[in-house]
Amino acid sequence: MSILRRLAAYGKPKRSQRLFERAQQVIPGGVNSPVRAFKAVGGIPRFIHSGRGAEIKDVDGRIYVDYVMSWGPLLFGHAPRAQLREINDAVQHGTSFGAPTELEIKMAERVHKLMPNIELVRFTSSGTEATMSAIRVARAATKRGKIIKFAGCYHGHADAFLVQAGSGALTLGVPTSPGVPASVAAQTLTADYNDMRSVEQLAEANLDQIAAVIVEPVVGNMGLIPPHKGFLEGVRTICDRHGILLIFDEVISGFRMGPGGAQGALGIKPDLTCLGKIIGGGLPVGAYGGRKDLMELVAPVGPVYQAGTLSGNPIAMTAGLWALNQINTKIYKDLERLGALLEAGLLDAAKDARVPLQINRVGSLLTPFFAPGPVVDYRTALQADTKAYARFFQALLGRGVYAPPSQFEAWFLSTAHSEKHIDRTISAARKAFTEV
Ligand code: PMP
Repeated sequence: MSILRRLAAYGKPKRSQRLFERAQQVIPGGVNSPVRAFKAVGGIPRFIHSGRGAEIKDVDGRIYVDYVMSWGPLLFGHAPRAQLREINDAVQHGTSFGAPTELEIKMAERVHKLMPNIELVRFTSSGTEATMSAIRVARAATKRGKIIKFAGCYHGHADAFLVQAGSGALTLGVPTSPGVPASVAAQTLTADYNDMRSVEQLAEANLDQIAAVIVEPVVGNMGLIPPHKGFLEGVRTICDRHGILLIFDEVISGFRMGPGGAQGALGIKPDLTCLGKIIGGGLPVGAYGGRKDLMELVAPVGPVYQAGTLSGNPIAMTAGLWALNQINTKIYKDLERLGALLEAGLLDAAKDARVPLQINRVGSLLTPFFAPGPVVDYRTALQADTKAYARFFQALLGRGVYAPPSQFEAWFLSTAHSEKHIDRTISAARKAFTEV
């Protein structure tokens, strides 16, 4: 990084500060999604002016290597020109009709091709809508009320999931939100990730009452936590034994862990799958789908009601289809190589600074945990030193690296990141570790 760039990243972000003050007058906490407020790391959230490739520029003119990438959707970086051209073309035809378009069929066909377990798919405008609708289908299909989720997993902000939830809920220390009725929370049972026995025990204690187990097959929302060998296979078996449906929430892992998502990479077949983020290529798209017999319960074929004014929106479908059309096996090889470089560089820098650091990584997703031992579940994630992470975050930010503003989130790489970006990040990290 040039000296000028480095210097530019220091000092007060005056314009961001002014905007943040103004925003707080009219928006709760000044943001439209809590983790953007930098509460876990302190300081002024940067208001973004623009992004290109792997970099973003804030309103004070500072440039950062971005590892948030809109929290995952931007697998191909910011503002890919070819995608912008397609979006521009699509806009000329009108932005929304509330009537079907061919684009929705093309998207659905593409999703089915990449994830054959998704026989029928319904598009929504967010991941939250996808997960809450999938649960509704599962409850209708099984005629059961309870669900099992895992402590520290995040499935969006619907009532049923805000029980021991990860991501922003965990960051802000409100894993179970006020405002969720006790009767709703009572229907959500929590098991421990990577602990099959905890699932078995809940299934046995609630015979014929559990509609579904919902799981992030690779967790992104208490920081990145991969599944132990055999864990998801074991959960699949328990579900089969008890007539419970298995829902994979692949909002993060879908198209991130390979063209077929976690289910393709691990060879496990869920009954229903939830998607979001990459599927929209940076515009608002979610989706849920799976077994034909289950999805045929959804209106207008079946009685399970779910709808959306902007679902399948043509501009969002155009952006998503462009992204899905770029997917091939080579990009995952490149992302794996970059991820490995970043992991090795961070570990090496931490070692030299004598900072205890654990890195969990799966391909282009990783989390450096300031933790004394392996992080494998909610309990071990909570042992991480969040204050050390906050100092590390600030030290990186001051050197032009924009990491997720919370210990309990994944870092996202994109195909727009290059070895140069990784080198820049590692040299910033070398200095940042000495300030932890
Ligand atoms: N599921 C998972 C695994 C997620 O990571 C998220 C969002 N971070 C959601 C669901 C909710 O998606 P959205 O924010 O689009 O509602």
